[in-house]
Amino acid sequence: MSHKIINVTVRDVRFPTSLEQHGSDAMHTDPDYSTAYVVIDTDCGLKGFGFTFTLGKGTEIVVCAVEALAGLVVGKFLQDIVSDFRGFYRLLTSDGQMRWLGPEKGVIHLATAAVLNAVWDLWARAEGKPLWKLLVDMDPKQIVSCIDFRYITDALTEEEALDILMKAQDGKQHREDLMLKEGYPAYTTSCAWLGYSDQLLKQLCTDALKSGWTKFKVKVGADLEDDIRRCRLIRQMIGPSNTLMIDANQRWDVAEAISWVSSLAEFKPLWIEEPTSPDDILGHAAISKALAPLGIGVATGEQCHSRVMFKQFLQASALQFVQIDSCRLGSVNENLAVLLMAHKFQVPVCPHAGGVGLCELVQHLILFDYICVSGSLSNRMCEYVDHLHEHFTSPVVIHNAHYMPPKEPGYSCEMLESSVQRHQYPDGDVWKMIINK
Ligand SMILES: [Mg+2]
Repeated sequence: MSHKIINVTVRDVRFPTSLEQHGSDAMHTDPDYSTAYVVIDTDCGLKGFGFTFTLGKGTEIVVCAVEALAGLVVGKFLQDIVSDFRGFYRLLTSDGQMRWLGPEKGVIHLATAAVLNAVWDLWARAEGKPLWKLLVDMDPKQIVSCIDFRYITDALTEEEALDILMKAQDGKQHREDLMLKEGYPAYTTSCAWLGYSDQLLKQLCTDALKSGWTKFKVKVGADLEDDIRRCRLIRQMIGPSNTLMIDANQRWDVAEAISWVSSLAEFKPLWIEEPTSPDDILGHAAISKALAPLGIGVATGEQCHSRVMFKQFLQASALQFVQIDSCRLGSVNENLAVLLMAHKFQVPVCPHAGGVGLCELVQHLILFDYICVSGSLSNRMCEYVDHLHEHFTSPVVIHNAHYMPPKEPGYSCEMLESSVQRHQYPDGDVWKMIINK
């Protein structure tokens, strides 16, 4: 079947998570988890669903950017897109006029992610496979043909990428079987948002331990005394053998990051996440160097906006954990580039997830990373946050703190139409009630 794309629609869908402080951190104190939600219609009735993630206000700007990109997509045939996916990625990211708005960063790149996520979802549905399986079954040459290597060949050439994928063919079936049986290891961020009281934190931590969680992340960075008290509380509750990570969401300058994290070293965090500006590669390198003797790594990536940034972080030894994001980078295409670069530099990938739908999407990418690229689970885990999954038609399945591989065709992007309508901003019922209060 031809699958000609005949329409692209985009809606502003927001969830009022700020009312209960879900998602609160040192910099984003009142997020309303939101999406610019894209639906692609084809002439044969098959649809593709995709989105990018936002924090509420400004989602309408991303919606505008998606509408601007839609003209490059309508009228195309799915088969033509995927037979030259690198070319299509470049068509969207290198439009002679629109690239001025980026290039490959900011609102226009979030919009690119939303559109391309929908195209990947459409492709996986057309093939009748979950996205991770579509990728796993692909010939390494075809994988490489989806990646734009422009600006990264000094770190990773097309030939090197192909070589990594060819070498990882060995043992692939065994790893796929293991994932289907046990799933991919996850850690939880749900217990310790910054706006939560100590009492709530204790309750959530107790519940999580009972459900089999062994790796926990705590938000820090607003007040050092609070951080010491909260980290002590969590470390006491989870014991010395479980894993603790801390996340400052870009709160500090470089010297402040080093001294603040040093004060929390006694709680033995595995990593400090986003200690400073996400664009400060040399700053992250300085922090990495200073914290290495304390056994604390630096993790970043949820606001690392392109493969070019990740390249430099890796080249500068500025991070010890790569946190890809399914909606920040240019969809699967650009994430593939980062997974392969991380492997070359031997840095583990521990994806960013949470928000709304990020867990649903990124699980596909990390399954592919394990089965077809890294072949290792050492120091690797995928973030999990327990919010808003009920709005998706194929929500994530967590079993014993592991992501179980999705079975339904597609990229798990589709939301329940009733949820979309109720949460559409500002006219959905949920927002009408809040606005009229
Ligand atoms: Mg984070």
